Amino acid sequence: MTARVLVVDDLLVNVKLLEARLSAEYYDVLTAHSGHEALEVCARERIDIVLLDVMMPGLDGFETCRRLKSDPATQHIPVIMVTALDQISDRVRCLEFGADDFLTKPVDDLALITRVRNLTRLKMLNDEMLMRASTRRSMGIVDQAALEAALQQNRGRIIVVDDHQRSASRLKEVLSAHHDVVVEGNADAANTIIPDGKFDLALVSLSLVSSDGMRLCSQLRTRENTRHLPIIMLVEPNNEARLLRGLDLGVTDYLMRPIDRQELLARVQTQIKRKRYSDYLRNRLESVFELSIMDPLTQLHNRRYLDSHLNTLVTEAKANDKPLSVLMIDVDHFKSVNDTYGHDAGDIILRECAARLRQNTRGLDLAARVGGEEFVVVMPETDRVRAALIGERLRASIAETPFRVNDDITLRVTASVGLGSLEDADETPETLLKRADKALYAAKRHGRNRVSADAA
Ligand code: GH3
Ligand code: MG
Ligand code: MG
Repeated sequence: MTARVLVVDDLLVNVKLLEARLSAEYYDVLTAHSGHEALEVCARERIDIVLLDVMMPGLDGFETCRRLKSDPATQHIPVIMVTALDQISDRVRCLEFGADDFLTKPVDDLALITRVRNLTRLKMLNDEMLMRASTRRSMGIVDQAALEAALQQNRGRIIVVDDHQRSASRLKEVLSAHHDVVVEGNADAANTIIPDGKFDLALVSLSLVSSDGMRLCSQLRTRENTRHLPIIMLVEPNNEARLLRGLDLGVTDYLMRPIDRQELLARVQTQIKRKRYSDYLRNRLESVFELSIMDPLTQLHNRRYLDSHLNTLVTEAKANDKPLSVLMIDVDHFKSVNDTYGHDAGDIILRECAARLRQNTRGLDLAARVGGEEFVVVMPETDRVRAALIGERLRASIAETPFRVNDDITLRVTASVGLGSLEDADETPETLLKRADKALYAAKRHGRNRVSADAA
């Protein structure tokens, strides 16, 4: 997805300049000419990053930033403030007002693109985390504690590769208030300790006297277990060629000497956050999420989730001496729906069936799509008699209201339902499902559009 950048400046010529540069890099650019307009656009549109001029009449950049960052609806949007070159105190204020980074005028092309790229990537990771977290919440797998721990853990482990004594100790001093810092003067030594050092970030000087920082960056990028480590290069001014080469190698960001304290902290913070997000996505969410995915067509749980969860529910029911029932539901003559009206029409029917099942079961029940046109509903604390009533309600919810496929086609659909209840201590999820399945086939044999219970 193309990132959408909002450029805010009261001077049209500045807006046009940034717009042209960003469009050339294939960003979608929106523009605003005042703080108020910027707030309006952010409230209305999906914006991935805001470039905000500090000096504007009316609502200035500081106040606009403060408002964006204090509104829950917009606080996740990264803000880069654009300040005058000599206003060091402005930079401090930018960060105090919640800005994520800043650029100085006249805006350098490379700095602009590097910063926008870094912060939009961070935003996209953040969006993905939030999306996954809310899907997981809606599935009832609350993992809030782990998620919050990952987001709040801001103290990073940083290696500084710099052999200039004064520079290295100053970096260490500034960063140590917020992070754990290891200093290494030699690139080759750094290359051997980084893979096992559990670092979140490397700061690598490109002006090492006795070893090659650029080579280290290249080695870190190509090795499998350090490929994802963020790297910030420390470069001398007027060394654009090396800077470009580093960015080409995949180095994440850079700092120009003499290094500004605020700038250092802001840039380091961005990279640590980004590392946290991507580690969390990679290591934790993905493995857990894969085990519990939903069926994409119907947004019900899938077979895999049913299998793992039914096990838990059966164990719990037995331990607490509570009833538990299972309904297996299969759409009747569904093949002929596909054959007559097409597969897409069939899909619409399946989605609507799922919606009706969801509407007619409790939040406590587990509804899953387990095959093409076959569904299972697991109902804790529900005995055979009650389950038969619910089975009948589900059958009726499908049979009684015709399904609207499109303006021209409305179909009557029926389904057969088989019921199995937890009977004895030897019951396993497998035997329970097998009994519901047997009952389902009895319902089909006896004429379909009916509920059958498996005789215990
Ligand atoms: P019965 O009453 O015996 O259940 O007859 P049936 O036609 O419903 O059963 P059968 O198992 O013979 O056919 C099921 C059909 O469901 C076959 C397949 O084309 C269709 N189907 C399976 N998965 C999907 C799907 O994801 N989308 C659509 N549209 N159809 C599917
Ligand atoms: Mg069928
Ligand atoms: Mg079938």
